[in-house]
Amino acid sequence: MQTKAVLEGDQWVINGQKVWTSLAQWADWSFVICRTDPEGQSHKSLSYLLVPMRQAGIEIRPIVQMTGDSEFSEVFFEDARTDAANVVGDINGGWKVAMGTLAFERGASTLGQQLQFENELNIVVDIANENGAADDPVMRQRLADAWVGLRIMRFNTLRMLSNAIDGNELSREGMITKLYWATWHRNLGKLAMDVLGPASEIAAAAPYELTRLQRLFLFTRSDTIYAGTNQIQRNIIGERALGLPREPRP
Ligand SMILES: Cc1cc2nc3c(=O)[nH]c(=O)nc-3n(C[C@H](O)[C@H](O)[C@H](O)COP(=O)(O)OP(=O)(O)OC[C@H]3O[C@@H](n4cnc5c(N)ncnc54)[C@H](O)[C@@H]3O)c2cc1C
Repeated sequence: MQTKAVLEGDQWVINGQKVWTSLAQWADWSFVICRTDPEGQSHKSLSYLLVPMRQAGIEIRPIVQMTGDSEFSEVFFEDARTDAANVVGDINGGWKVAMGTLAFERGASTLGQQLQFENELNIVVDIANENGAADDPVMRQRLADAWVGLRIMRFNTLRMLSNAIDGNELSREGMITKLYWATWHRNLGKLAMDVLGPASEIAAAAPYELTRLQRLFLFTRSDTIYAGTNQIQRNIIGERALGLPREPRP
């Protein structure tokens, strides 16, 4: 369902629905990309609005995920309101702003996340040393590959940021970042389960309390989906980084 906004006096009035809005139930503000030209169908009729989340016109329904958490929610807008000035960029020019936001989400914003990844990898290595999994040459190889992958991820992000220091736009390195980290992190989840072996099947507590590594495994299945799936990332790399012909548009 599309989200639409109409300007009434000095306020936008918003109606529609957003699915899978991360952290919505804790957010004070959200950005909402709304159709603001009722006649328009293309991306040229979208605007990027900043909307206060705590108001009567917004209903937030958390979705329970297979980790047992509710990290994201469905959000329903029924005559929700925001000030006319809360539009980022031009009216009907929201697509460009959305693409800039996504480029940041897929690229530079993940540098800090790499510390969490390192922390998770250290836990997996410690377990492998303790339970003997590290004695298996194949497992040792996979652990070493994970370590190498994390270093590559860091150097690529630093390379991307260094290039941006001179005021350049984020460069082509940025376009491989999401595909690379998402695949690496999903594989770390699988490695964690393999290192644990049969213990990976035992929950922390009844009825459904999972260990950190079980949650890591389950949540990382979504890493290759949100912020643009791996397939979409490959299209972006092909078309924008390598200049290959655009795929046919329906
Ligand atoms: C944990 C999580 C958090 C999320 N948080 C947010 C959020 O905060 N805000 C928000 O707006 N959204 C959020 N999303 C939604 C997310 O952005 C979308 O799920 C994602 O972009 C994929 O779009 P889709 O679900 O419509 O899949 P579709 O686009 O329908 O894709 C379905 C499948 O088809 C493939 N596919 C589609 N098009 C192509 C193509 N052109 N070429 C090749 N393959 C293709 C995809 O790779 C995928 O495998 C979240 C999703 C998850 C899982």
